[in-house]
Amino acid sequence: MGHSGRGRIERLWPLLFAKPADALLVTSLPNIRYLSGFTGSAGMLLVTSHRATLFTDSRYTIQAAQELAGSGVKVEIARKGLLMSVASHLGRARRRLRLGVDPGNLTVAQQGAFTGILGNQVKWVQAAGLVERLRAKKDPTELARMREAAQLISDVFAAVLPKIRVGVSELLVSAEIEYEMKKRGASGPSFETIVASGARSALPHARATSKLLCEKELVVLDQGAILADYCSDMTRTVFLGRAPVRARRMYQAVKEAQEAAKAAVKPGVAAGDVDRAARRVLERRGFGRYFTHSTGHGLGMEVHEAPRLGKGDGSLLEEDMVVTIEPGVYVEGFGGVRIEDDVVVTSRGAIDLTSATREFLEL
Ligand code: ZN
Ligand code: ZN
Repeated sequence: MGHSGRGRIERLWPLLFAKPADALLVTSLPNIRYLSGFTGSAGMLLVTSHRATLFTDSRYTIQAAQELAGSGVKVEIARKGLLMSVASHLGRARRRLRLGVDPGNLTVAQQGAFTGILGNQVKWVQAAGLVERLRAKKDPTELARMREAAQLISDVFAAVLPKIRVGVSELLVSAEIEYEMKKRGASGPSFETIVASGARSALPHARATSKLLCEKELVVLDQGAILADYCSDMTRTVFLGRAPVRARRMYQAVKEAQEAAKAAVKPGVAAGDVDRAARRVLERRGFGRYFTHSTGHGLGMEVHEAPRLGKGDGSLLEEDMVVTIEPGVYVEGFGGVRIEDDVVVTSRGAIDLTSATREFLEL
């Protein structure tokens, strides 16, 4: 992660000072990893205007020194627990500190413990989503990794296609998908792989079960891989056998909704407008009320990042954001269709990272 460290922390400063805060306590592990390159499972990062310090425990002495070499981030090995170490470090500063924290990433118990140790020396400043705002825009290294992660999952889908057939279980298909991704160098799935067949495909977030795939069923496959720290997220829907008109209509409507949403993607456009573009197509086709989730989400080191592309979301798309575009239609008792791709926001519009075919496959 040679690209993380100083540059990213420097980009954080203006956001921090604008709060205003003197320091930021970063407690979310992906945020710590993004800013410092540290990949361990225990740590807190304290960012001030002149230095950043990673607090971790003695299991990570060697790893932290290696991963943070050259990053400009100091490592402190916590002897009496992370919280105590951060608190006593802060206690050494003589003046009162305005400390930015993200309430979403700090427990009430943690904040209580800090207050117990530091009393009035710290003034808490709500600073939610600062690092997430930086993470939403990807740098060239990140974009290259995300392109590879998306290509990998497209390749996995092509490799698994012959194994999607009547008589095999949803779990077997999901196992094949995850096996194929690891074979290609992924560290694992970026979320629990979804394989939902028949009436179950109408459940947008169904887990794979031991149910066997049957003739004349829709199958929704939602899969993603983590490759070199970055996630992909892709959904395809196939039909087992010759599809009836109803399934074809659903598929065609979702495909057109996805195309309309992609065409709406541009820097400066509100996320909610992209959602509306998809929704409008489905409404026109009579499927509006069957589209029950948002059109997409940011993607990066985590599978759900800023921005959210939902109804009325006002956040503006910016160049080099990576988002999913995933409209769907879910009819209870019949089945569902979802098509999901990962795209980069560019000055020329949405550029697809996902390359798997979007044709309606009848297997
Ligand atoms: Zn997905
Ligand atoms: Zn998604």
